[in-house]
Amino acid sequence: MKIICIGRNYSEHIKELNNETPDEPVIFIKPDSALLRNNAPFFIPDFSNDIHHEVELVIKINKLGKHIPVEFAKDYYTEIGLGIDFTARDVQSKLKEKGLPWEKAKGFDHSAVISKFIPIQNYNLSDLNFSLTKNDTLVQEGNTKQMIHNIDEIIAHVSQYFTLKIGDYIFTGTPAGVGNVNTNDHLVGKIEDEVMFDFRVK
Ligand code: ZN
Repeated sequence: MKIICIGRNYSEHIKELNNETPDEPVIFIKPDSALLRNNAPFFIPDFSNDIHHEVELVIKINKLGKHIPVEFAKDYYTEIGLGIDFTARDVQSKLKEKGLPWEKAKGFDHSAVISKFIPIQNYNLSDLNFSLTKNDTLVQEGNTKQMIHNIDEIIAHVSQYFTLKIGDYIFTGTPAGVGNVNTNDHLVGKIEDEVMFDFRVK
């Protein structure tokens, strides 16, 4: 199983970090040891003083595929979930300055929170709202309409480079509002009105 993540897929988030808008999806990968499931608490790692939350829709791949055309991408997933791409922003800034890979900032243990998964048939994936609250305050809100590359385009693009396998996850990018988390923060993520995850930072 692998975790594929898309960076810079929402323009308001690109602006808040002063990044450039990419002409094709930015891709990075987290190892399976990054997974954090079942509302388990997230422990802030010792190597960072600036862990950011990035709430993202997550696709679970349910069919083996490579070189998937956009028009067939829908055949490769039936469920959607919500996740947090935890990012050590201080570590990432240093790596970015030097032009080095992001793995230490993005792929560390438990940096990939995933929720339960729900069937997509009850939802309109081209107009889907999702959100993150921190200590009952809304901090991030997104809608799939704001994506630069939609889910099917992401699957098509990613599968040109990486064979997609059953059980792989794709994090589809974060909307604006990223910010840091601290000990005892309470994070709740929703897709529309459905609570997807609810856990604490320790
Ligand atoms: Zn992200």
